[in-house]
Amino acid sequence: MYQVPFNKPYFTGKETTYIQDAVASGKISGNGKYTKKCQNFFEKKYGIKKALMTTSCTDALEMAAILINIKPGDEVIMPSYTFVSTANAFIMRGAKIIFIDSKVEHPGIDESKIEAVITPKAKAIVPVHYAGVACNMDAILKIANKYNLFIIEDCAQAVESYYTGIDGKKKSLGTIGHIATFSFHETKNIISGEGGLLAINDERFIERAEIIWEKGTNRSAFFRGEVNKYSWIDIGSSFLPSEIIAAFLWAQLENISDIQERRKEIWNNYNDKLKSWTYRNQVGFPFIPSYASNNAHMFYLIFQNTDKRNNFIQSMKSLGILCVFHYISLHSSEFFKFKHDGRELKNSDLYSKNLVRLPFFYELNENKIISTIINEITL
Ligand SMILES: *Cc1c(COP(=O)(O)O)cnc(C)c1O
Repeated sequence: MYQVPFNKPYFTGKETTYIQDAVASGKISGNGKYTKKCQNFFEKKYGIKKALMTTSCTDALEMAAILINIKPGDEVIMPSYTFVSTANAFIMRGAKIIFIDSKVEHPGIDESKIEAVITPKAKAIVPVHYAGVACNMDAILKIANKYNLFIIEDCAQAVESYYTGIDGKKKSLGTIGHIATFSFHETKNIISGEGGLLAINDERFIERAEIIWEKGTNRSAFFRGEVNKYSWIDIGSSFLPSEIIAAFLWAQLENISDIQERRKEIWNNYNDKLKSWTYRNQVGFPFIPSYASNNAHMFYLIFQNTDKRNNFIQSMKSLGILCVFHYISLHSSEFFKFKHDGRELKNSDLYSKNLVRLPFFYELNENKIISTIINEITL
């Protein structure tokens, strides 16, 4: 029997070369040559005003929460169907999280449900571009402008993905909100094991972001010769990754076109070849709104009920193929269920119960998985 994992990190082959180079340079702490190369890549390619590498997207979210000065009692609005870090970063600063339902047609935040929950304590909206598929940013921007809220885009899954606005302009995800956060965890498209990036689009945040990033000191300004000594001037933490991580990431970024091309091929194969099987079995398919692009981060199926979903996962497992589900809606999690205000978030719960992700990685033999599903799985 063959075994197919859910994820397998892809290495371009250059990672160890660049790590050796970083080691040989004698500087392996953060903010060196490779960190700058990676940050520069994001600024030039996507038009981010200032990019700062972090050790994870979780860290970048924590930096964002500090930057917008979240205080106890401030309200932060986000989808319930997301990873815990999206919420934790703001909870850690005392925020109250207001969870919003997903859309019927895809798991992203239902923008039409946001305005009704806004109170004078609202401080920020955190759209999560689930599966790299853009949220309806024009609608979200309109609400944010009306109520003077910050937008923090959770782009953990959204590298190399775009949003086309009602003005017809195509923008990179991560350049629309005030701040955005990316992940290079080994399950994402571009990886460094653990890793992340803070993207700043509102210039007001740049100077302070560097300080928070450098443990609350003005060390970056000192190294640029802008101040003659460096000292403790704000709160901060250890958010910088080492040059070893940045060197690894650089090998991935150099090959981003190749990686994305292969991922899109897998996605299109799944999409084209499973269509009639899903139709026969009344299984739902990913939906990409016309304003969103597809960065081939994941491929998911939506079953009619949890039994069918779980049977599918079990049958696939017995055939050696690992498929996984996620997320338990955050509003109904152990940690949050007694804090939630009781609003029913039906679509979020449906995705929790009925969604499954198919294996997705560069070296995958997706045709084998497709034929297994078509020939072996009956619901
Ligand atoms: C992966 C992920 C994160 C966390 O990323 P890390 O780099 O592992 O901290 C946050 N939000 C979403 C939506 C994610 O998918």
